[in-house]
Amino acid sequence: MSQSYRFLPFRFERVADRVLLVNDVGDFHFLPESSFDALIGRKISPESSEYLDLKSKNMIWDSHLSNVIDLLATKYRTKKQFLYDFTSLHMFVLTRRCNQRCAYCHASSVCVEDKDVLDMDVATARKCVELVFMSPAKSIKIEFQGGEPLLNFNVLKSVVEYSLELNEKYKKNLEFVVCTNLIALDEDKLEYIKSNKIYISTSLDGPEYIHDEFRKNRSGEGSYKNVTANLALAQSSLGHDNISALMTVTDLSIDHLDEVIDEYIARGLGSIFLRMLNPLGYASAEWNRLGYSVDDFVDAYAKALDKIIQINRSGVYFPEMFTTLLLSRILTPFSTGFVDLQSPAGVGIGGVIYDTNGDVYVSDEARMLAHSKGDKSFCVGNAHSHSWREIFGSERLREIISSSCIEALPGCAWCVFQSYCGADPVRNYAVYGDMVGKRPENDFCRKHKAIFRVIFEYLAKDDEDIEDIFWSWIIGKPLAENSANATQM
Ligand code: SF4
Ligand code: SF4
Repeated sequence: MSQSYRFLPFRFERVADRVLLVNDVGDFHFLPESSFDALIGRKISPESSEYLDLKSKNMIWDSHLSNVIDLLATKYRTKKQFLYDFTSLHMFVLTRRCNQRCAYCHASSVCVEDKDVLDMDVATARKCVELVFMSPAKSIKIEFQGGEPLLNFNVLKSVVEYSLELNEKYKKNLEFVVCTNLIALDEDKLEYIKSNKIYISTSLDGPEYIHDEFRKNRSGEGSYKNVTANLALAQSSLGHDNISALMTVTDLSIDHLDEVIDEYIARGLGSIFLRMLNPLGYASAEWNRLGYSVDDFVDAYAKALDKIIQINRSGVYFPEMFTTLLLSRILTPFSTGFVDLQSPAGVGIGGVIYDTNGDVYVSDEARMLAHSKGDKSFCVGNAHSHSWREIFGSERLREIISSSCIEALPGCAWCVFQSYCGADPVRNYAVYGDMVGKRPENDFCRKHKAIFRVIFEYLAKDDEDIEDIFWSWIIGKPLAENSANATQM
């Protein structure tokens, strides 16, 4: 018997018939219920392996507290490293026009021929690029969005060229990504994309009958044939590693994710991102036709993840990217740059979006709120009329960020998954009228909590094969390469 140890801060919850303990820096440990009772009753023997595990995972301490605190402080700094990268993701809305009319379009795109449509002009694009390079982040990602950004290709080129020119001076690690439906891709554009090393992110919702149900062109025909033909063209020109795809789960695909996964593998896409539909833009009006509950999504996600793990077990490297992101947070000490799930939120300080007229919004959802409801609460300035300091040092941005530290938010403050989760003040504002929102009833929280449980249920199995697969996803290399590296070490 020992009463000599003391507790360090941790949160806990029952997962998979055991008690999951997680501390502030994301160290975790599973205990059987009886051992948890012994821990709380200070009856864990210092000679037991459990004692050493709990000590090494910083749940308890018995000596040299200041050393333990120094170690935890270092780990905490590492987890929050993304704060030093202020602001690395810069999204440019090159146009609000689109050649498709997807039923769930979050961007509320407008028709190609609309007379009063908005494209970004070169003067605005240059002002936005100048703001981008004021950012202290060493790595800068410029992401072209829309509408369909390929419809304003000349301005895309002017952004690339002006950025490369400024980067002669600023020497950032500069990356470009174009988020495109691929319909307007042609040989000339592809050549430009290739020669400037622009990464392509596209959308493929699954096999033809699923994709075409909700992703149609403006005359009402499904876009699958066109998209897959141009996907193959782009893959052969750029290489498969330079293109990825997202799929949006709809009421039609939710029971057929196995077919979606098969389609991705058949099309040579090396990963998949299973994205839940958000009730934003056109999707909010069509929610009765397209929508589903969080519980339905998590059930479908869990089944799809099981299938994806089986595929990887069979020797095919094929990660699910949202799971990979969460695993990186759970299994490594490092921060990840996923701006949608950070604490404090990545809005403005991790990523920012420049609208066609130069308005600067803290996130894509903030821009959509302005377009759909006329509410510009999350517009923090304009590239033509405000300096970098006025925008990124503004009281408004400080207010938004200070309301998004989940360590201090009701519900999150005592949640076992807090170390891996984040906040979305814009979504809270849209749903509840305030940036704090209400947990655990909101869909954002319920979805993440349920997905964390699915992942921790896998980790609780202590199955080495599954852990190897998860690590292969985190380091981005097939299992066979992992084993080869391990044997060389
Ligand atoms: S391709 Fe994208 S921007 Fe165009 S309608 Fe579809 S979801 Fe909206
Ligand atoms: S949002 Fe929900 S799952 Fe995430 S930390 Fe807060 S309470 Fe936990």
